[in-house]
Amino acid sequence: MGGQGGGSFRDALDAAYTLAIRHLDGIGDQRVAHLPAPEAPAPPDGIGFDAALKLANERIVPWISASPGPRYLGYVTGGVTPEALAADWLVSTWDQNVSNAAGSIAADVERRTVAAFGAAFGLASSMHGQFVSGATAANLVCIATAREWAARQSSAPLTVFAGSAHSSILKAMSITGVGRSRLRPVATLAGRTAVDPLALEQALAIHSGGPAVVVASAGEVNTGDFDDLLRVSEICKRHRAWLHVDGAFGLFAAFDSGLRPRLDGIEHADSVTVDLHKWLNVPYDSAIAYTARPDLQREVFSASSAYLGDDPDPLHFTPENSRRFRAFPAWMVLATRGTRGIGEWVGANCRLARQFGEAISATGRFQVLGGIPLNIVSFTPTRGGATARDRFLQRLNAGGETFMTPGQLFGQPTVRAAFSNWTTSAQDLDRIVAAVAASVD
Ligand SMILES: *Cc1c(COP(=O)(O)O)cnc(C)c1O
Repeated sequence: MGGQGGGSFRDALDAAYTLAIRHLDGIGDQRVAHLPAPEAPAPPDGIGFDAALKLANERIVPWISASPGPRYLGYVTGGVTPEALAADWLVSTWDQNVSNAAGSIAADVERRTVAAFGAAFGLASSMHGQFVSGATAANLVCIATAREWAARQSSAPLTVFAGSAHSSILKAMSITGVGRSRLRPVATLAGRTAVDPLALEQALAIHSGGPAVVVASAGEVNTGDFDDLLRVSEICKRHRAWLHVDGAFGLFAAFDSGLRPRLDGIEHADSVTVDLHKWLNVPYDSAIAYTARPDLQREVFSASSAYLGDDPDPLHFTPENSRRFRAFPAWMVLATRGTRGIGEWVGANCRLARQFGEAISATGRFQVLGGIPLNIVSFTPTRGGATARDRFLQRLNAGGETFMTPGQLFGQPTVRAAFSNWTTSAQDLDRIVAAVAASVD
């Protein structure tokens, strides 16, 4: 290695291994979040491996959050299983570029992995999937493909209908030129975030201006609620609308036999988004975009050039050309645990969410909004409105026992607790409930 003496691979990896084990061994007890973290050091201009590592150890390592730990409940954040982490280290070691299928088995591993997960989620076998960086990128791939479909039917602008659309859907509409203003919000069922099928039917019936895409939620981000995918798919069929299902985390309901019926109808989707760095508990970043129209997807994303390969090279189907071998950690988790093993933590997270909701409701100082159909609890202090919510959340997160994020539901300011870590235990729940009770006025 050049410059000021880099370490050997063995020295560098030994040091990384020691740091990694120290981090993992302490993850259940270190501060969950640092609010605020101090200013980070800029990278020095070549001080050698030992000095660089020492600087990182002193000025960066202590301020890393315990977001893969059991009491981080912000956003929807998964942790990392041992086999997923080991696989991810190997992905970096192997440094494959899965832009094309030439010269390595990696692209075929990806192809088989997306097919295996597609089958496990109950998608139609004709669905074509690729790994992308997250559900935002997956929604972009799916909306871009739907826009291509729309452009072939009519020159009229595309309209997107949704009961609840994640902000990344609007981002995708903006990037693809559909435009954020083309979203038509549809009424949701009383006290829920799931779309009202009658309202959707009516909205599509009176819509007369060009092609329509319906974005359905399989796991809405404030409540974890599901649209009735079977009814929504029938409505889409009647009105010739494209059905996109955003199942960023909720698709993992397929892995728990009690929850699985919530996904009935998913087999009729034209495109589907799922995140793996959330509930599968693989490291960032990892998600899959599935569409039923790889031909149209290729029209949008193909990058033909003499030196690049041809079908079925992945680069023709996603925004990226060069691509990390993201499939391997997902392959390893499925191979290690199976759908049943993954379903165990999915079910456990949902039970913990319900128990958390019951425990905080029983104090009389919090109100749960929108029910707890899956793994997310949206709640708010019973008295004091937005100011009380802000003060409570600030105090809770500053305590370092747990971390939650704010939300808004039915016009009320809320706090969201999302259980998606494979290691969260009943003991963790006791600590979380105690921290919550101690942080309210
Ligand atoms: C998290 C989430 C997204 C965005 O996912 P990223 O992985 O952060 O890009 C999109 N839709 C839903 C429903 C989500 O929960």
